[in-house]
Amino acid sequence: MKMTLECWMLGLFLLINSGLTSHSLGEGLQSTWRYDYTKYHPMDEIYGWMEDVERGNPELVSSAVYGHTYEGRNITLLKLGLENSEGREKKVIWVDCGIHAREWIAPAFCQWFVKQIVDTYKSNKKLEQMLQNLDIYVTPVINVDGYIFTWANDSTRLWRKSRSAPPPESSCYGVDLNRNFNANWGMVGVSFDSCANTYCGTSPGSEPEAKAVMDFVARMVKQTLCFLTIHSAGQLILLPYGHPEISAPNYNELVSVGQAAAEEMKKVHGMNYTVGTSPQILYPNSGSSRDWARLIGIPFSYTFELRDKGEFSHLLPEEQIQPACEEAYAGALSIITYVHDKAFNNGDKATERE
Ligand SMILES: [Zn+2]
Repeated sequence: MKMTLECWMLGLFLLINSGLTSHSLGEGLQSTWRYDYTKYHPMDEIYGWMEDVERGNPELVSSAVYGHTYEGRNITLLKLGLENSEGREKKVIWVDCGIHAREWIAPAFCQWFVKQIVDTYKSNKKLEQMLQNLDIYVTPVINVDGYIFTWANDSTRLWRKSRSAPPPESSCYGVDLNRNFNANWGMVGVSFDSCANTYCGTSPGSEPEAKAVMDFVARMVKQTLCFLTIHSAGQLILLPYGHPEISAPNYNELVSVGQAAAEEMKKVHGMNYTVGTSPQILYPNSGSSRDWARLIGIPFSYTFELRDKGEFSHLLPEEQIQPACEEAYAGALSIITYVHDKAFNNGDKATERE
């Protein structure tokens, strides 16, 4: 009798729960609705969230492990895209977060970005159409070892680098993964001192995390329209190149598309984002993933430096996660829409028909 009652109550619970899922949040959202996007999450919760999002949205989301960290953890991405009936070749958008361990707002943004697309694509014709033409590859955390290290205790919270072992004669761990890419490697804005925060490693791609991104993205470079890599802080939109004497061939277009994104971002919460190359508005650097992406031929490549401008910097309070992500989403969507419409120039006509 007791068992029966418990089974009945469990059934009722499941019924109520499934009703809530479809009633309050619409279709296609299974398993994303419980997650709190206004909190920072440790890595095990982010891995679990990725599994839930994939399981709950099989028509839109799939996942892939495309590399392993120095300590052997999976580097996993979510691919967001819809099939198109015409058999058009799909183009690719790359979005990554969490290459610098302490910049917690970046992984929070990647999760927000995925949630926002999952939540809205069925009711947003333009977004649905873009997802039929594009596959968006999102890596919530590249530097998994470093991210986990920042969660260990207060003394490790501001760790930036990876967690690779010290070179001979040194006791300092880790490489600045955003100085380790094969783009003017080692030339400016780096250190060869393994104890420095901008230590660039022993050679381009010496670190498995940077090499994983380079190997994976290089295989689809011809289809890739845009490379967005998300950092904090400073409220900047950085474009290639980090070397002060090298200029991108489409520099003017990179600036205008970046400025249009900054205008969209300002509309959301009034925050100002500055657009320019790293030497113009931050500092010269080399070996960044942004520069590497442009060098291998991806036409649009940007670094977003999210909130804030220094008050909290990498310790951005959780109350700011939502507004920071809302404005960054508007900026990212502005760039993605531009590159989509440029590649699929019948895009606007198709929208008007509907
Ligand atoms: Zn960074």
